Amino acid sequence: MTEMHLWPAHPHPYRGELLSSWLVRLAHANGLKVQTFCRLSFGNEFQVWNRDIDRLAPAWLLDTMSKKTGTPLSRVESATLHIYKGKLFEHEKASGQLPWILPLQIYHRKRMGFGLQFCPQCLAEDTEPYFRLAWRVAPFTFCPTHQCMLHDQCPRCSQGVAFHRIELGHPELNSTNPLCICWSCGYDLRDSERAPVHNWSSHAFQSWAKALRLVENGAPINSRFDYSKLSVLHQMTKLVLSDGIRGRLAEFIATETGQPKPKKLPGRFPVESYRLPERHQAVGFAWWLLGRWPSRVKRAWHAKSLRFNWLLRDYAEAPVWYRTFAKNIRTAFLEISHQ
Ligand SMILES: [Zn+2]
Ligand SMILES: [Zn+2]
Repeated sequence: MTEMHLWPAHPHPYRGELLSSWLVRLAHANGLKVQTFCRLSFGNEFQVWNRDIDRLAPAWLLDTMSKKTGTPLSRVESATLHIYKGKLFEHEKASGQLPWILPLQIYHRKRMGFGLQFCPQCLAEDTEPYFRLAWRVAPFTFCPTHQCMLHDQCPRCSQGVAFHRIELGHPELNSTNPLCICWSCGYDLRDSERAPVHNWSSHAFQSWAKALRLVENGAPINSRFDYSKLSVLHQMTKLVLSDGIRGRLAEFIATETGQPKPKKLPGRFPVESYRLPERHQAVGFAWWLLGRWPSRVKRAWHAKSLRFNWLLRDYAEAPVWYRTFAKNIRTAFLEISHQ
């Protein structure tokens, strides 16, 4: 590869940085607005921002970014949510909800959702503020490093994060605004409140923070952490938010822990479509349920707050240890009912 093939400025991605964040920084480093940079680099026929490039980056985008920055293709790919395959979700798919990945809800080039969270302290400590892959992960509701709650919107104007729109409709802005400036109102997201995490169960929050640190580090294989736990956590969160026997499972946990029940959306919505405070509460309940496994789940079952047949409902990928437990509890149920 010769210098002629490279973009004049070609900073490399930061550790754990999202592809979209890196691409916007590349545009700015070359003194161009994002839309101009993309048009010049990829051509008019290739649209970048009408899709979720962090989840489904087209090959032409990955290839061009690799060649024009002199970055190995594998490193470019590791700036996408692909790194969580086999850890947070089993299979990638072109559409529909991916387990544990927050959707962006793209409508034309706008992002109507709140699928990108941020830690104001992480942004404040960055030499150049950038957005992380981990912030697209649904249970990543607090920062394990700074022990503060994340945000999923600008605290001033309540819009979701969409740094690729920073200069749109603002011809007076130069292209060097850092990514932490709200695209809609100009607020500096680094100034957002650092709300401490309310740690109501030290064991649950310890396990939670440990899992988040792994997610933050790209979910490496770790002999002391079984990622199937996150899959079961997902199933538990689903049960906490389900309407089954009038939400009695959430009621049971609320009584046991003295914590308020997460506010449920009307109807059946996946946990990934919940806003941060409710999602945080639901995931916290699920971690508590996983603690002292399987005694709390059994207690919930004895208290008639959980039906054994829910444990495996819509859960084809259940790991063996969990499936065995669910079958044993079923056997116990059948024995009791035959007595
Ligand atoms: Zn942080
Ligand atoms: Zn704003």
